[in-house]
Amino acid sequence: MWTNWSGSLECRPRATDRPLDEAGVMAAVARAADRGLRIRPVGAGHSDSPLAVTDDVHLDCSALTGIVAVGTDRVRIRAGTTLASLHAALAEKDLALDVVPDTDAVTVAGAISTGTHGSGAAVGSLSAQVITVRLVDGMGAVRRIDGPDLDALRTGLGALGVLTEVELRVVPAALLHVHEEPGAPSELLAEGGVLDRHRWAEVELHVPSGEALARWGDVSEPGSEPLPVVRRDPVRAAAAGSAEALGRMVSWLAPTVWRAPRWGGSATGPAHRLLVDTRPQRTEFTEWALPRAALDAAVRELSAAAGARGLEVKAPVLVRVGPAESGWLHPATDRATAWIAVRAPRGTDPGPLFGLVATVLTAAGGRPHWAGRHDWTAAEVEQAYPRLADFRRVRDKLDPQRRFANAHLDTILGP
Ligand SMILES: Cc1cc2nc3c(=O)[nH]c(=O)nc-3n(C[C@H](O)[C@H](O)[C@H](O)COP(=O)(O)OP(=O)(O)OC[C@H]3O[C@@H](n4cnc5c(N)ncnc54)[C@H](O)[C@@H]3O)c2cc1C
Repeated sequence: MWTNWSGSLECRPRATDRPLDEAGVMAAVARAADRGLRIRPVGAGHSDSPLAVTDDVHLDCSALTGIVAVGTDRVRIRAGTTLASLHAALAEKDLALDVVPDTDAVTVAGAISTGTHGSGAAVGSLSAQVITVRLVDGMGAVRRIDGPDLDALRTGLGALGVLTEVELRVVPAALLHVHEEPGAPSELLAEGGVLDRHRWAEVELHVPSGEALARWGDVSEPGSEPLPVVRRDPVRAAAAGSAEALGRMVSWLAPTVWRAPRWGGSATGPAHRLLVDTRPQRTEFTEWALPRAALDAAVRELSAAAGARGLEVKAPVLVRVGPAESGWLHPATDRATAWIAVRAPRGTDPGPLFGLVATVLTAAGGRPHWAGRHDWTAAEVEQAYPRLADFRRVRDKLDPQRRFANAHLDTILGP
C-alpha cells in the first residue's frame, strides 16, 4: 500500500515499477499499455491532492537521480533527483537555484509538475526555471520539448508523460542576509511593503491572536562572511509537536507555541540552508494563488469568516508572493500573485476549514495550488485558466489514450 507524506492519502496499486533509467521508464509504459492499464508517475509523495493516486500502476521515479551536465547558467538533471541533492551538487560548483521552496525533500519532476514556488515578488517558481525537458509519452516514445509546448510541461500535473530529464536555469551562488520581525498584519501584507521589496520575503499570520511575523532576505554584499546560523527548526518542531498534541485538547494554546522564531532575529548564509524547513510538521495543506492586489482584503475576509463560523485556524497561515508565470496551468499564470497557505495539524479534520478557505479565496479570484487539498472540478479550471485549451491540445498529442490519467485528473481536466 502507498501513502503520501502527510498520511492523508493512500492507494493499492496493482503494480509498482521503479525504473533505473529512461529505458526502464519506456519499458514500464509499454508494459502498462500491453496490459491495458493506466500508469501514474510519483515522486516523493508530498502532495495532498490525489494527483499520484492510482489502483493501476505506480511509476516510482525515485531512482532516476543524478546530475547529467552543469554549465555556468544551467543544469541538466535526472527528474527524480531531490532538491536537497540538487542544492548540494550546485553549491559544489558555486551555483544555486534562483528559487528555494521551503522543502528540499521533493523531486525535481514532482515539484515542477505542480508549479512549486518559493517567495519573492521577482523570482519565478521552479516551473519558470525550466529550459527543456525529456519525457516518455503515452506511446512509450522519448521526446525532448523546448518550444511553445514547454508552457504545458511547466505545470504538467504528471498528465503529459513521465519526465526523465529536466534542464533548469541556475545562478551564481550568493549569501542571503535574512531577518525576522513581528508587525501589524495589514502593514506587512500591503502592496509595496515587505513582501514586495526584497529578494525573498514571507509573512506568517497567527489568526486567533491577530499577530504576524515577517521574514525577509536580500543578497548580502560581496565579500561578506556567513554568520553562524542558529537553526530553530528542531525547537520549532518540538514546540509544534507539543502544540499539536496540546492543540487537540486545549486548542487556544497551539498558536502561541507555534510562533517560535526561526533564526532568532537574523542570519546570513546560502538560501538553501536558511529557507528550507528541515523539520516540517506533518500537516495537511491547502494553498491558494490570488491576484497580488487582493491579498489584504482576502486575509481579513478569511479571518472574519472563520471567526463567524467558530472555526479555529490553529497553525499559522503562510503568505508568500511571486511574479506572473508563463506555464499554462500554473496557478500564477499571467498575474503577479500572493499565495495563502493554510495548514491543519494532524489528528484534526481539515474539511470544514479548508472548505471555507476554498469558498472565500475562490471568490477573491484565487486558484488552488495543485498539490494542496481543493475541490475544484474542470468547470472551475475552465473559468480560471485561459490557456486550458492549449494544455488539452498538448495532452491529446502526448497522451491521446490517457495512459497517464487517474480519477483526479479526470475531475480537474476532464476526460
Ligand atoms: C513539507 C512540505 C513543504 C512544501 N513546501 C512547498 C513550497 O515551499 N512551495 C510549493 O509550491 N509547494 C510546496 N509543497 C508542495 C510540494 O512541492 C508538491 O507537493 C510537490 O509536487 C511535491 O513533489 P513530489 O516529488 O513529492 O511529487 P509527488 O507529490 O509525488 O507528485 C506530484 C505530481 O508530480 C507528478 N510527477 C512526479 N514525478 C513525475 C515524473 N517523473 N514525471 C512526470 N510527473 C511526475 C505526479 O504524477 C503528481 O502529479 C510542500 C509540501 C510539503 C509536504
